[in-house]
Amino acid sequence: MYADGVVRSSALDRPIGSVAARTGPKFEALGVRTAGDLLRYYPRRYADPSRLTDIAGLEIDEKASVVAEVRSSSGVLRSRSSGKLRVEAQVTDGRSVLHLAFFAQREGMAKKFERDLRPGRRGLFTGKVGWFNGRAQLANPAVVWFDADDEDGVVEHAERPLPVYPASGQLDSEKIAATVQVVLGPLREGDVPDPVPAQVRAARDLGELLPALRRLHRPETEQDWVQAQRRQRYEEAFVLQAELARRRARAAAQPAVARPRVAGGLLDAFDQRLPFELTTGQREVGAQIADEIAQPVPMQRLLQGEVGSGKTVVALRAMLQVVDAGGQAALLAPTEVLAAQHARSLRALLGDLAEGGMLGGADQGTRVALLTGSVTGAARRQALLDAASGAAGIVVGTHALLEKTVQFAELGLVVVDEQHRFGVEQRDRLRAKASAQPHLLAMTATPIPRTVAMTVFGDLETSVLSELPAGRSPITSFVVPADRPAWLARTWSRVREEVDKGGRAYVVCPRITGDDADGADLVADEPATLGEAGTAPRRPPSAVLEVVEELRALPELAGLEIGVLHGRLAAEDKDRALAQFASGAVPVLVSTTVVEVGVDVPEATAMVILDADLFGVSQLHQLRGRVGRGTAPGVCLLVSGAREGSPGHQRLTTVAETLDGFALAAFDLEQRREGDVLGASQSGVASSLRLLRVTRDADLIEQARADARAVVEQDPELESHPALRDAIDVLLAGEREEFLDRA
Ligand code: ADP
Ligand code: MG
Repeated sequence: MYADGVVRSSALDRPIGSVAARTGPKFEALGVRTAGDLLRYYPRRYADPSRLTDIAGLEIDEKASVVAEVRSSSGVLRSRSSGKLRVEAQVTDGRSVLHLAFFAQREGMAKKFERDLRPGRRGLFTGKVGWFNGRAQLANPAVVWFDADDEDGVVEHAERPLPVYPASGQLDSEKIAATVQVVLGPLREGDVPDPVPAQVRAARDLGELLPALRRLHRPETEQDWVQAQRRQRYEEAFVLQAELARRRARAAAQPAVARPRVAGGLLDAFDQRLPFELTTGQREVGAQIADEIAQPVPMQRLLQGEVGSGKTVVALRAMLQVVDAGGQAALLAPTEVLAAQHARSLRALLGDLAEGGMLGGADQGTRVALLTGSVTGAARRQALLDAASGAAGIVVGTHALLEKTVQFAELGLVVVDEQHRFGVEQRDRLRAKASAQPHLLAMTATPIPRTVAMTVFGDLETSVLSELPAGRSPITSFVVPADRPAWLARTWSRVREEVDKGGRAYVVCPRITGDDADGADLVADEPATLGEAGTAPRRPPSAVLEVVEELRALPELAGLEIGVLHGRLAAEDKDRALAQFASGAVPVLVSTTVVEVGVDVPEATAMVILDADLFGVSQLHQLRGRVGRGTAPGVCLLVSGAREGSPGHQRLTTVAETLDGFALAAFDLEQRREGDVLGASQSGVASSLRLLRVTRDADLIEQARADARAVVEQDPELESHPALRDAIDVLLAGEREEFLDRA
């Protein structure tokens, strides 16, 4: 049932089981539930059957598709030891020979292989290249025969590009192709509603949907599928951008309370006592934000800024403006360490302005409440009370803020730190605690290229803080080979020198203990490079609890207090470890990546990262950002056993050579898979993107965004675009499923 009361059921809504009765469940396992899903189950690539593939160029353990001709086959063979049946064959590309082996459970199956493998027959053989009896071999490859004597009218197969579908063990590419044709064959224009409105199609010269689908699934020429792919990439970008534009429009349509700046309030008092000058960027972005929260339309802004660029001060000034205007602000942080630190540094920045209602507090002062999972008992009750009564103008917390028991008197602004760690749902849950739509300021220190921001945070406007506050010292970075004792010794004596000069040193490890099976605090967002092709098996990654003992025994560090910090410590212990580190009582801190985001100790000058090649580029950059935050120069030592020239080593060299977070993010993107780029919280959207690549399709995304905004502006709920609405529902269904899977 749709809002207009019409029950729409079309050929495309048919369950896949009614198209392919026997293979239905196998299609469902690939995420194909309806005939319509199948039409958008696109070929992964296209083979050129007129050109034989170079067999000599195959690599062991790679997946390969080879167009070749059968030269000979063995007949049915039976293994003496296991009794298993097989047929062996040799195929050739005219120059080299490749061995194939087909295994069968039953005699009939083996006989079929024998019949199929007639010398002179050409086909496409797809499988993983193995190594057997001293030669390359494809075992049980999927085969597409080009004479196709079991299908009529496909002799010209041999000249057409051959679609190769993402297959499963249960379902090969050929079967998928055949089923697609069953669905596609009888369709007429009008059977496939186009999510892209006609006027947009005309303006962008996109052509009709059905012919494009036919060209994707059964192209006659390369140009056919190239053009059709471009069209469908645009469609994906457009549907996603339409949903983001609709979210934006919906949020903007709900009135917010205007919170204009009030003269003589907390913000003025704060500005007067600010111990430094705001950077130009902070002033400009600050003015923009001040302006937007002064409107009765909810602000929806993403603030990007390098580590240490001073986002917190910008956020605090926005919060104070809201408090002055009678509202409250909530600051949502991804970890307890960060939340606690935010509360501490906000209180420190505010001084007696944060002691509202207390003896000695400033007259117009407010309070900063902290709510995390580990704030319990009386402290928790007080924080809840302060939030609900409005006594706390600023409430800082983790996910704990989202719980039902947390209520606000007058929530006017939601600030989300490290936005990419939260899903849209979490953000919305917090916003739902306000009676009117609150303003939203999201912040991230992970530099996000523009097109990614447009895709992931397309419903937000973005601002960037590009300069660092003056007086920051540069950070020098080095790659230290782990197998060179002299270099390692130099690393620790360098740590010693930093501490002797009044600095502090972080030592970051990938693991907590040596036998971490569950991998808590493990490197989060990087394909592990353990066992990288060609490297010898290496020792297990460094672990906090072992490294701390090793360091305590080192002559270079004799007499220094060395502490630990990791995710399994109780909250008080984490706080204490950080406080002792900050004060200098314990100047060396061995830690996991819990220090990755936002931890701010200005005296920290050295960052040693062990097994650095196990971390992602952006993560290394984030970690490095923990040092050089004061006036003393920082040093970052990337210790790694990665061989020179290996991908892991190259990543480290790149990080060591550049301090520009945006350049590193771009480098990182080139190396990652799409789902990783979009981030875990957006993986639902990512998995629904079949052809679009945010890293590559920047132009398309820009166009689609402009078009989608124009369409939504004219028709915010897309009343006159049912096909677009349906496509969005499909997109969101995927997103919700992913979310539920994780919840
Ligand atoms: P971010 O959150 O962007 O990583 P922070 O807001 O934590 O950065 O700022 C990093 C440090 O720089 C803090 O100690 C902060 O007080 C200080 N800081 C912020 N703005 C300025 C400025 N304009 N001049 C000097 N120091 C600043
Ligand atoms: Mg910060």
